[in-house]
Amino acid sequence: MNYGKRGIVNQAKAISSGTNRWGKKFSLFGFCFLLATVIGVMIIGASAGIGMFNGIKDTAPDVGDIDVSPKGMSTFVYDKDGNATRKLVAKDSNRIPIGREQIPDDLAHAFVAIEDERFYEHNGIDIQGIIRAGFKVITSGNASQGASTITQQLIKNNVFTDWVTETNLLQKGKRKIQEQYLAMQIEKEYSKDEILTEYLNTINLSQNCLGVEAAARRYFNKHAEELTLSECAVIAAITSAPTRYNPINNPDNNAVRRQIVLQKMVEQGYITQVEYDQAKADDVYSRIQTVNEESNEDNAVNTWFDDALIDQLLKDFQDKLGMTKEQATAKLYSGGLKILSTQDPHIQEICDRVYANEEIYPAGTKYLLNFALTVKKADGSTQNYSSEMLEVYFKDESHDTPYTSKGFNRLFDSREAAQDCADYYQECVVEEGDEVVGDPHVRIIPQPQVSLTIEDQHTGHVVAIIGGRGEKEDNRAFNRATASPRQPGSTFKIMSTYLPGIDSGKITLASVFQDVPTAYSPGGKVVRDWWGSSNGEWYTARRAIARSANVPTVQMYAVVTPELGYEYLKKLGFTTIVGEEGYKGDKAVNDIHLATALGGLTKGVLNVELNAGFATIANGGEYIKPKLYTKVLQPDKNGGYEVLLDNEAPESTRVISEAAAYILTDAMKGVVSGSQGTGTSVNFGTTPIAGKTGTTTDYNDVWFAGYTNYYTATTWTGFDNNEKLKSSKEKNFSKEMWRAVMEEIHKDLPSSDFPQPSSGLVKATVCSESGKLPIPGVCDGTLTTELFVEGTEPTETCDVHYQGEICAFDGRPASEWCPFKTQGVVATHPAPPPEVARLYVNGVQDNSAYTTTTDEEGNTVQVPNTCHHTNEFMQQDGIDGILAGERAEMERRAAEAAAAQAAEGGDPNGAPPAPPGPPGQPTPAPIPEDVAAGN
Ligand SMILES: [Zn+2]
Ligand SMILES: [Zn+2]
Repeated sequence: MNYGKRGIVNQAKAISSGTNRWGKKFSLFGFCFLLATVIGVMIIGASAGIGMFNGIKDTAPDVGDIDVSPKGMSTFVYDKDGNATRKLVAKDSNRIPIGREQIPDDLAHAFVAIEDERFYEHNGIDIQGIIRAGFKVITSGNASQGASTITQQLIKNNVFTDWVTETNLLQKGKRKIQEQYLAMQIEKEYSKDEILTEYLNTINLSQNCLGVEAAARRYFNKHAEELTLSECAVIAAITSAPTRYNPINNPDNNAVRRQIVLQKMVEQGYITQVEYDQAKADDVYSRIQTVNEESNEDNAVNTWFDDALIDQLLKDFQDKLGMTKEQATAKLYSGGLKILSTQDPHIQEICDRVYANEEIYPAGTKYLLNFALTVKKADGSTQNYSSEMLEVYFKDESHDTPYTSKGFNRLFDSREAAQDCADYYQECVVEEGDEVVGDPHVRIIPQPQVSLTIEDQHTGHVVAIIGGRGEKEDNRAFNRATASPRQPGSTFKIMSTYLPGIDSGKITLASVFQDVPTAYSPGGKVVRDWWGSSNGEWYTARRAIARSANVPTVQMYAVVTPELGYEYLKKLGFTTIVGEEGYKGDKAVNDIHLATALGGLTKGVLNVELNAGFATIANGGEYIKPKLYTKVLQPDKNGGYEVLLDNEAPESTRVISEAAAYILTDAMKGVVSGSQGTGTSVNFGTTPIAGKTGTTTDYNDVWFAGYTNYYTATTWTGFDNNEKLKSSKEKNFSKEMWRAVMEEIHKDLPSSDFPQPSSGLVKATVCSESGKLPIPGVCDGTLTTELFVEGTEPTETCDVHYQGEICAFDGRPASEWCPFKTQGVVATHPAPPPEVARLYVNGVQDNSAYTTTTDEEGNTVQVPNTCHHTNEFMQQDGIDGILAGERAEMERRAAEAAAAQAAEGGDPNGAPPAPPGPPGQPTPAPIPEDVAAGN
């Protein structure tokens, strides 16, 4: 609407220019036509037109119902300290509404001057403008410069939002009449300032900016209220054709229009000639380019935390507010929301810094090539190529390429090598006549990869997340902390076995199991330990945790039962554990079996969920669903905010007793600070730490999950493509990262021990070899004090140690007929419970000192399992010869033992010579051949 003096001159020039001869020829005819039209309109308007207008007007929205406020608004994410950390925008929502007081007068005047110079005089429609525009349509055939007032533009943008899809003139005409009618109504309801403010918050200002505040930040990195006159003119220049006048891409076009804006401001008396000259001299466009390069926040990639938060919000909007996925997305990206996240900027900064330091990673970083390509084949079909196809291609030995190898795994020693391979593959598969659609999607990702979750176990607030290593190039990328399940290895022993076992009382920390060859099912796959084959040692649960012993853990899980374990895992919030309903292809699979004890799962677990499992123990046995935000606020009708979603209250469940939690913590302190602990390297020493190492059998995944009385953190390392971690540095790297971040987080926090519950916990002195009540005078050398959940402390007496008459030949309690009785103490071990015995690969050898039975009054009694010198044995023929043979055998054993001791120079610890047959490893009494022969 260039109707200032200069504008008319310019238009006249345009009309007479060579490119617009039609206009010239048309003008005379046009003038006559205009006259006829005006008369025609007057006649029609006086008769039928009024009825038609009323009809259209009546179908217009009621002025009381319409909302002229802009709809799409940017959402902001705030960290725990209230800092805005992220702006979420959709195509139609990069808008930050501001009030009239934040809009400088120069900005308001610039828009009025260029868009609607009679804004302050007209009543919503600009009659003078309409006539002029009509003239223009007729003379130039150009209908693009309609005589829309600011009021009409506001209605067009916020009420008739589908105007961009109008296809025919009738629709357009109808809308135009309704728009004019509503504009007049709106002018009665709102002040000029209110209308102008809504308008300035609404308009499209290119570069995905809606409203002047978003534009001020985008182009000048400042608030609208800080804009200079020169800058105001740049923004006002954009609106009539946002793409053409985009000041970043088309600064020259914008500059021409900006000068018109300034000129009109002078003409209309808003600015002086001096102000005009100063503004005109301003080198505003180089400034815009600098801002564009330095702070293009809308193109910034989400952090890992942002990504996880967005996933969580979209899910919660659907689950808790009943939205569809599309509604949830629209709400999140254009609802103008304020999201109060749980992210702790201090802790996230530490994590980001530690994980960004390439020097901390194992030497020899590999690069994994991820690849995707779409090709339009010559025959018109579309073919997609993926990473998997690339891998298969180079594994195929019929392809003669430099990459061909059976072991091809998409890992390279450098980024360049990975890129070369991607280029080479593209050349291999794209044939002549094919058309590559877009650019190939190539991502080169450093390996091994990492993830980390840290939460405050007392609130369930996730305070920091690391979803991977290396530059994050994509939004909603593969998040290893929150979206990618991995096998949890030995960390899972605590979740699957020890937590349910101790809480249910099926095992205690004093329970004893033996590391003998054991299978996952009778006759099935044998359980392996990280130190190799079974060493025959006896493990209490406490020691099995500290040493991360596999075999005793599987045995204990057999006692706990996989069914009970699964019930607990569900309560601990694991969403990836497969229950009875699981299928892998057609085959039914689930995680309700003994391999789950060691974390051999169908899918694996998410870092954030494993962390929440450990946080449950750290929080005294109460599980809190980990959360990434506390509140979502949305704009209310009064310019303030109201709560859309309150996530403050914890979703919590008591999973285990406080006493059981304390006992588990106490046992896991042994992992970090015990002499046999597997996780001592994480101990930074300023506050007590409990935790568990985790390694899958073949070092595909290495974890550390642990906590202080402040925070629970879980680190994972592994290759995205499941290569094995090989070097010692790679294998210990999870612990190093855990220590690096947690040490710094706790730098200024005072030491704080885990609080002991005031009830439900008992201490008892037990015999460490049986886990039962000690026999006074007999178990004195093996006493230990252990913690028990009240009611699970042992009531039975030690069944390992026996004092009294011992058979010198077979080391068992002597029968009354035994010829080799001697006074002493023996340690043998009772047979395992039947659910464990059935898993023993070599069967169970009866080595117990006692058989537990019930007497006539129903009391449990322990009857000694005596030696083989039964009455019947002693009565047999040739018994003298048999006994002579046994005596000779005993002498031979004694001589051998003496020789062995002499060879070793004596036992430095002064331990007594081994009793006949090592404890727990029964030596069946060999019968000398001559005796057996019955001589
Ligand atoms: Zn004992
Ligand atoms: Zn005997």
